[in-house]
Amino acid sequence: MEFNNNTLKGLIDKLEWQLSMGVEAMVEEKNNNYFYQEKTKIINDDNLRKLDIPQKPSFSKLEAEIIDNKSDHQKILKKCLTLDDLKTYMLNFNDCDLKKTATQLVFSDGNPKSNVMIIGEAPGAEEDRRGIPFCGASGQLLDKMLNSINLNRNSVYITNVIPWRPPGNRTPNENEINLMKPFLMRHIEIVSPKLLVAVGGSAAKAILDIEGGILRHRGTWKEIILRDGSKIPIIATLHPAYLLRAPNQKKLAWEDLKLIRSKLEEFNS
Ligand code: URA
Repeated sequence: MEFNNNTLKGLIDKLEWQLSMGVEAMVEEKNNNYFYQEKTKIINDDNLRKLDIPQKPSFSKLEAEIIDNKSDHQKILKKCLTLDDLKTYMLNFNDCDLKKTATQLVFSDGNPKSNVMIIGEAPGAEEDRRGIPFCGASGQLLDKMLNSINLNRNSVYITNVIPWRPPGNRTPNENEINLMKPFLMRHIEIVSPKLLVAVGGSAAKAILDIEGGILRHRGTWKEIILRDGSKIPIIATLHPAYLLRAPNQKKLAWEDLKLIRSKLEEFNS
């Protein structure tokens, strides 16, 4: 199949052919933001107008500042004082390619005043559709795990390292995790929980900078130190999606859950 890559029609024909072959999305290892490159030959302002893509949304004050200071994420993140600020920033953040293939931002669920903050990897198909973390099959198992130690969605706060669904549910790569980690750390600072639970290897690696698999690191309390010097205990446990595939490992997850329960009892005593 030959396509003329130098014309809009040629590119559209090529895309249509790829779609008909079942291609769901194309995302590179590196975060190349072609969509916003000014000098792109094909996607110039005229063609954007033809494609009916909105060019000037109306921005609030915080949003306007964000757009003006695109490159200085840390500076803007510090100015995000509330979860609403952070969500607004993330809704306007366009440097992660996963945003383009996802349906929507999946920000969080549960109780932001909770002592327990649970951090997963990234939304799956159901989460992408509904905009709620852990609302699919692995979420149902996560709920059961929480219930087993008398917790539920009203008594925990849940988010993910990556807020957009990776195409085909692939594991987020290192670039994507490094790009989104400052957002996660700010999220933790704002919620300021008494303890953190990293669910699965990606979350554990993102937060704890550890090498090796989750089976090596689960089940022991570690600590993270935030920028203001405060320390938060963190435990890594097995991801419910993994437990659905390997149910004989549930006994290990139960050990971790008991440690979480004991830690919460310590706080309450
Ligand atoms: N797996 C995750 O890690 N997070 C979700 O939100 C859903 C599935």
